[in-house]
Amino acid sequence: MASYDLAVIGGGPAGLAAAMYGGMRGLSTAIFEAEAFGGQLINLYPTKPVTNFPAYATIDSRDIALRLADQAECFGAGLFEWQPIEHVSRDGDDFVIRAADDSRSSGRPGGNGASKGDPSAGREVRARALILALGLGRFTPRRLGLADEARFEGKGLTYRLPPIDEVHAQHVVVVGGGDSALDTALSLRTVADVTIVHRREAFSAYAFSQQRLAEADIKLVTNGEIVGLVAHDHLERVIIARTDGSTVECPADLLMVSIGQVPELSGIKGWELGLDDSRLPVTSAMAASTKGLFAAGDYADYPGKVKMIATAVAEGSTAASSAERYLLSMS
Ligand SMILES: Cc1cc2nc3c(=O)[nH]c(=O)nc-3n(C[C@H](O)[C@H](O)[C@H](O)COP(=O)(O)OP(=O)(O)OC[C@H]3O[C@@H](n4cnc5c(N)ncnc54)[C@H](O)[C@@H]3O)c2cc1C
Repeated sequence: MASYDLAVIGGGPAGLAAAMYGGMRGLSTAIFEAEAFGGQLINLYPTKPVTNFPAYATIDSRDIALRLADQAECFGAGLFEWQPIEHVSRDGDDFVIRAADDSRSSGRPGGNGASKGDPSAGREVRARALILALGLGRFTPRRLGLADEARFEGKGLTYRLPPIDEVHAQHVVVVGGGDSALDTALSLRTVADVTIVHRREAFSAYAFSQQRLAEADIKLVTNGEIVGLVAHDHLERVIIARTDGSTVECPADLLMVSIGQVPELSGIKGWELGLDDSRLPVTSAMAASTKGLFAAGDYADYPGKVKMIATAVAEGSTAASSAERYLLSMS
């Protein structure tokens, strides 16, 4: 079982800053992220121009995420993305951290390329100190709500953009009208014929993305919702009902649903850390009441808390410094 001085769960800005500081302070450090690194910056608002991150008049949210991950890697932290942690237990003073069996180490939409091999899917690692940087929780994709939807997963229906060089579809339908849907459609257009289905007339994506969409050769079906999927072994067509009462059928050997992500924390209640599914109270040193356990970012709670990228980064740094002090006190 791999063993670290410090493990960080959650790869948003708080966790990435904690991993960077852990590495900088010479601790063997590993960070585990269920999705691509970046947290809310990648999953909720990937193309937002952020105007309150110090030292930048404006910087895209995705760029902040990529830079933080690169910096953590530069200082020697082990970066593991697509590694959802499903359980944490104690063995003496150590933490035993188990990644879910279904974790994957590749296919990293929005990722920064920093993920290293040695995926710990279904395996356990040990750490002497632990920082929880869980943010709002793990993101799960919103589904279409069709009765037999689950049957099509892996048979042409997906909720996450696969690596483009692994897309072999000819006809792709993308559902959604936000930035992720448009980014996804524009990426897929380089390898396939693409149709976007959106339930409204207007798109909510940034004007810049809409401009790129207008210039791309992508078909649009607006005021429409997918009401049926047609398949034999694999998806072949989608049926779209429009608000004017008409029905449209579109060929689709890949259906990419991009209608948002819902964060949730409920899985952590089973961890042997006495957590519930709300925020974790911490001291000004970001220490929880459990020995060796720290928290940072949106998941950490204290009076006067402000939830921002800059405060998440600051808290991650404080948590790592406190973890170092704790480890020194134990040796
Ligand atoms: C729409 C929106 C716009 C915003 N705009 C701004 C802005 O302009 N400026 C600003 O300063 N702030 C902004 N914020 C707030 C800012 O994004 C958050 O404060 C910040 O992302 C918190 O960082 P974090 O690392 O604590 O959490 P998160 O960013 O939520 O990251 C937590 C990570 O932990 C991972 N995780 C959770 N559970 C597990 C598990 N079991 N195993 C592995 N990984 C797990 C999640 O997948 C996630 O990636 C915005 C927030 C929203 C929702």
